[in-house]
Amino acid sequence: MVAFRALSKGIGRARRLVLNASAKVNLVLEVLGKRDDGYHELVTVMQAVDLSDRLTLEDAEDLELDGRAAGVPTDDRNLALRAARALREAAGVDRGARITLDKRIPVAAGLGGGSADAAAVLLGLNRLWRLRWPVARLDTVATGLGMDVPFFLRGGTALATGRGERIEPLRGRSLGLVLVNPRFAVSTAQMYARLTPEMYTDGGHAKTLCAGLGGRSPARVAASLYNGLQEPAVAAYPPIGRIRAALLAAGALGALMSGSGPTVFGVARSFEHARQIRRRLTRGAWDCWAVRTLNGPAIRIVG
Ligand code: ATP
Repeated sequence: MVAFRALSKGIGRARRLVLNASAKVNLVLEVLGKRDDGYHELVTVMQAVDLSDRLTLEDAEDLELDGRAAGVPTDDRNLALRAARALREAAGVDRGARITLDKRIPVAAGLGGGSADAAAVLLGLNRLWRLRWPVARLDTVATGLGMDVPFFLRGGTALATGRGERIEPLRGRSLGLVLVNPRFAVSTAQMYARLTPEMYTDGGHAKTLCAGLGGRSPARVAASLYNGLQEPAVAAYPPIGRIRAALLAAGALGALMSGSGPTVFGVARSFEHARQIRRRLTRGAWDCWAVRTLNGPAIRIVG
């Protein structure tokens, strides 16, 4: 009887998983050039932050997705559902899952929300379906879904090269940041289309940031921020420039657009300082968060 209870409890636990999938910012994003395959060659320092979507995965006959959020498709274009299909096919399993997605990371915001959801589904279903794949094997499925997904399988701070899929973990320390989103979406592809060759750089900004990361003095990190997409983004979307100026005026040590925007983050002296800056910024047209950077995984099982 005791053995039966223990077994059924174990099975019960495995049938439902609740995960937090954290956003990222790019402390540096350099475009080195355009490759023959049409993609851009990148060097970027990615940093997980504690603003998260919540996903619940449950055993089901088929693959299903629940959860509505503006700008997020609920059909096969949804990255969470695509991740589940891709893993099912790659693993050759005949299993289903009901995915409930509670979106908190703003959409098409430069914070990698869709990729974080995809990574959460890969890690969660790896467990729910008892595949026991190591992360390096999940990478093969992850890169087919999006170049940021391999980063989210790991989290923390990382140097990403190639198209962004080659990941080298970096040692980090906790920083307080303020994220500001102007409540409009930006298309990553359109932002890259605005780049011209004179905007390409040589990876020097990433080297400078990495050299300063060990000590992680917030001022040193703030002085090394760089995003090659920021200049064309500010030209196309002036609110991005206004947010940067407002963050600096509110006391941020440095401010930078994340990824392809439009979210801008400010570096604070501490988490408490980030909260003060956020309070000073309260504006009807912007969403603002004070967050901590994460040294550990971007995807965490919370239930
Ligand atoms: P990118 O990864 O392209 O830099 P991003 O981080 O700026 O993107 P996301 O929030 O990942 O932005 O959304 C990019 C696009 O992906 C959106 O236009 C959205 O319609 C689509 N999408 C598909 N699935 C999801 C998902 N689970 N969450 C958010 N967006 C999704």
